[in-house]
Amino acid sequence: MNTDTAGKVNLLGLTRPQLEDFLESLGEKRFRAQQIMKWIHFFGVDDFEAMTNLGKALRGKLADVAEIRGPGVALEHTSADGTRKWVLELDQGNRVETVFIPDGNRGTLCVSSQVGCALDCSFCSTGKQGFHRDLSVAEIVGQLWVAQRSFGPPSNRGLRNITNVVMMGMGEPLLNFESVIHAMELMKDDLGYGIAKKRLTLSTSGIVPRMYELYERIDVSLAVSLHAPNDPLRDQLVPVNKKYPLSELMAACREYVDRFPDTRRVTMEYVLIEGVNDKFEHAEQLIALLQNVPSKINLIPFNPFPNSGYKRPNGLRIKAFQDRLMQAGFVTTIRTTRGDDIDAACGQLVGKVQDRTRRAEQWRTEVAARQRGRIKVHEASGQ
Ligand code: SAH
Ligand code: SF4
Repeated sequence: MNTDTAGKVNLLGLTRPQLEDFLESLGEKRFRAQQIMKWIHFFGVDDFEAMTNLGKALRGKLADVAEIRGPGVALEHTSADGTRKWVLELDQGNRVETVFIPDGNRGTLCVSSQVGCALDCSFCSTGKQGFHRDLSVAEIVGQLWVAQRSFGPPSNRGLRNITNVVMMGMGEPLLNFESVIHAMELMKDDLGYGIAKKRLTLSTSGIVPRMYELYERIDVSLAVSLHAPNDPLRDQLVPVNKKYPLSELMAACREYVDRFPDTRRVTMEYVLIEGVNDKFEHAEQLIALLQNVPSKINLIPFNPFPNSGYKRPNGLRIKAFQDRLMQAGFVTTIRTTRGDDIDAACGQLVGKVQDRTRRAEQWRTEVAARQRGRIKVHEASGQ
């Protein structure tokens, strides 16, 4: 999984124990892993020759059998509000997006785990693309590596640092389980990215059996994409609910809080869609549903995309929904949209780029057909 076509091992995707084993297999001391990890993840180096505290012989040996290869950057945009987005080019035209959102002393990176997603939530543009493939550990960690390198050497980074990571980009992280676990181990490792457990959040649409497995393997913060307070509505919005209904999902959330009491609560994400799940009765049902599950609620005003068929409720309605939940004692935040000018909102990732690509392809096909005199072309409709 971590080897390229030339059979070299990509060290970017190895956790500390895996790198130690790898070095041992080369007849080297295990502690060298610490030096190498610091070069890769802290200094962002991709050339063994730059690792000046390693002997020349070891540098040469590593160059023969290993590499440090991050994802290619197809596009990088910075928004007027400082939000940055990278479109990363993987193999065979597969692309994923990563977004950095600065906020005071905090810098949050929104990381993708799959190309596309198989779960097809009705309001999600990633889901509309279908599933293409899982990302490798190197491709997941590579998103932090690329972002951090873009901020320059450690002495220049200042506030442009990754302090928080949310697995809320493209894909369902619990359906790419092993790679996501290893990647999060590297994110938490002091010699990796040193992200504290409270600042590392995995978001899931509710793959219940994998949630229990997650608790066995790693301690991170948990966010659940709830979006509806009753089964019939959640079946429509988040179809995986038919497999793992709310009673099972809530039990898995309670288990999380029991097991990691210092975390105190689960973050419940709730995309507000006009006329669908934003009514008073929905707020009441939500309050009842979460009565025994210590939670914090994050309301996300729906981000529109072409042909979604849904609308974002107006500000007053969103505020009224929040007020009702707050009255009932829930800490409730409204996610502000950042990076609007560069389409950096979560849940919108890549859709646009691929749409444009498809539109361009469609246009080329039409032009070719017109040249052959087969069809009449309508004027391309803006955008
Ligand atoms: N698959 C995981 C991780 C992706 S997180 C999950 O669903 O939790 C992406 C977040 O953005 C999820 O909470 C998702 O529900 C939300 N989202 C998706 N489409 C959206 C849209 N159009 N507007 C607002 N939020 C959206
Ligand atoms: Fe997949 Fe999450 Fe989008 Fe649902 S909301 S389709 S689980 S990425």
